[in-house]
Amino acid sequence: MSERDQVLFILAKKIHGDIAGRIAERLSRVGEATDEQLSQALGIEIGIIRRLLNELYESRFVRYRRVRDVDQGWYLYYWRLTDDDPFRVVEERKKKVLENLKLKLEHEESGSYFVCPQCKTRYSFDDVADYMFRCPECGSDLEAADNSLIIDKLKMVIRRLEELKLE
Ligand SMILES: [Zn+2]
Repeated sequence: MSERDQVLFILAKKIHGDIAGRIAERLSRVGEATDEQLSQALGIEIGIIRRLLNELYESRFVRYRRVRDVDQGWYLYYWRLTDDDPFRVVEERKKKVLENLKLKLEHEESGSYFVCPQCKTRYSFDDVADYMFRCPECGSDLEAADNSLIIDKLKMVIRRLEELKLE
């Protein structure tokens, strides 16, 4: 395995689990494979292989080439490891996660969440206005949520993620 593939393998395994690591390892060895070929080679159910390939694709660890099977009339997907710099791949993923976390923090800090004192269900301000400030589950009057714990937690995760160095 090349040093670059090795890094992809380790990251894929770390983020998506052991089987994803084995998929990356296999793709590094054979270059390209379909989901069925991977399923057979690794002895793992094709549904699991497909789900993990999609996850790996979302994280940009793998790419695919689509070929129309003339006889069958459907498409075959040939998967391979990405040609991108693996650290850039993870850096971009990190950026995306951070964006989502900051958006979430913004929502929490805007103080527009409510909670039912009875069943503890949380509602956003938009929902609550529709329900006239009563819990649709149990009918109790809703209260403004104390989300300071969630805010602290989000801030901590964001700070740790920002400080995280990959190299
Ligand atoms: Zn309730």
